[in-house]
Amino acid sequence: MTEIEKLIRRFLWSGNLNSNAAHLVAWEQVTKPKSAGGLGIHRLEEWRSILVAKLAFKFLNNENTLWVRCFQAKYGNRESIFSTKRGDSWAWKLICLGGTTAMQNSMWKIGNGSNTRVMEDAWVDPNPFMRWPTFVNTIELPPFTVEQFLSENGEWNQAELHRFFGSELASRTGRLPRLQKEERDSLVWLKSDSSKSPTTALYRDLFRGRELPYSWVWKMRAQPRFITFLWRICCDVIPTFGWLKRPHLRESNRCPWGCPAEEDLQHFVCECSFTCVVFHALQKQQAESATGSDVGLPEEAISELQTSHSSPSKHAQPCLVSCHYRK
Ligand SMILES: [Zn+2]
Repeated sequence: MTEIEKLIRRFLWSGNLNSNAAHLVAWEQVTKPKSAGGLGIHRLEEWRSILVAKLAFKFLNNENTLWVRCFQAKYGNRESIFSTKRGDSWAWKLICLGGTTAMQNSMWKIGNGSNTRVMEDAWVDPNPFMRWPTFVNTIELPPFTVEQFLSENGEWNQAELHRFFGSELASRTGRLPRLQKEERDSLVWLKSDSSKSPTTALYRDLFRGRELPYSWVWKMRAQPRFITFLWRICCDVIPTFGWLKRPHLRESNRCPWGCPAEEDLQHFVCECSFTCVVFHALQKQQAESATGSDVGLPEEAISELQTSHSSPSKHAQPCLVSCHYRK
């Protein structure tokens, strides 16, 4: 997986697999979700842990597929702790890696109550009762399923609930969303909603609390190349002359368009005479296209500027026209 990630990195920054180019943004940053300032590329190691959690979830949920039935027959007594032993298959060991994640992020939804264990499974709260024993009279509890708390017509048996859980917990149990009374209990993901798949929700959860204010960039309706360029501005990885001087890739940090200033990000985006001419030409073009009159292309304005200024050397091409992934 490390090798595959290397290839992805190389392709991202150089456009092919055979040449190297400067990696302007750290891989840790690139692989964050867009809301956290990255490009939303999955880190393979983390993504794998989410995908195996999905397998463990299917195993726990007793899905009626051949592979689940085979694994249930062989390892069905070990799913509560997802333990491995010497000689177990690599596939089981892989599923065990995701077992804890699956259990922590899922909960049983009750139908007929027949396959949810009262103490061991999470069904009232994401934590099973066996982890908060102070609320339950454990002495009276032999191994039994939620079915015991249901009456013959499938409704909650309030007397039984009160007897075991007390009034507060019984009332909370009575308000749980239910499946149809004849349906089998089903494991559901806690964090999934209609807009995200459970795996996406789990992956995003790894980055919760690390959201950055410039995720608006990705909501713009513009060409992907332009949006990625904005993202690079937000990451401050535009190779302006000021930026290039820091690692000693250039001797001078002066703006190549003749401005009496250092070419840093602020200058490049907002203050440079070159940028101002381009923005002005774009505004003019937009206004004229709204009125239907003939419009001048910004390229013409740029060439005017190039002739009026002392033209920068080939190696001093300004970032606005030269910056994209293929440096
Ligand atoms: Zn300038």
